[in-house]
Amino acid sequence: MRYHRYSITFNEIPSEISLVISITGCGGPCKGCHSPFLHNPSNGHYLSFEHYQELLDKYQGQITTVCFLGGEWYLDPLNNMLKEAKKRNIKTALYTSLDYEEVPRKLKHNLTYIKTGPYTPGLGGLESVITNQRLYQLKPKKIDITYKYWPQAKPKIKKT
Ligand code: SF4
Repeated sequence: MRYHRYSITFNEIPSEISLVISITGCGGPCKGCHSPFLHNPSNGHYLSFEHYQELLDKYQGQITTVCFLGGEWYLDPLNNMLKEAKKRNIKTALYTSLDYEEVPRKLKHNLTYIKTGPYTPGLGGLESVITNQRLYQLKPKKIDITYKYWPQAKPKIKKT
């Protein structure tokens, strides 16, 4: 399991501070893929479980969520990393191009959030109100929170 980069962001999951890790080796179906450098599984750096633990140690207390962009094709290593975050009371998230029903149940069991569906030009990403992609909060129960990305859901700043 290898990763292209990691970063701390507020953007991937609304209301969460996420350690975002981009996993390489995506065989995704998205037309007009915005991240073709994620396709080659040899790209990036090796993400050992020990290195992952070091990242969690480094950012523990600063992040609320660890978010994997892809990686469901490495089912067991990814699942072990999700479990490790849960053990530390860090929420977990996965961005996948699979539809919800296609995601293995054991991954969903260890996820707080999941973004599903391929990127489709013409329908747009999560910010588009006609997008085919969905963002679900899975815990404590499954809720579609895609609308949180839409412009009308963003807090309005009052002009003075
Ligand atoms: S999930 Fe889609 S957009 Fe993301 S890297 Fe894979 S093919 Fe590209």
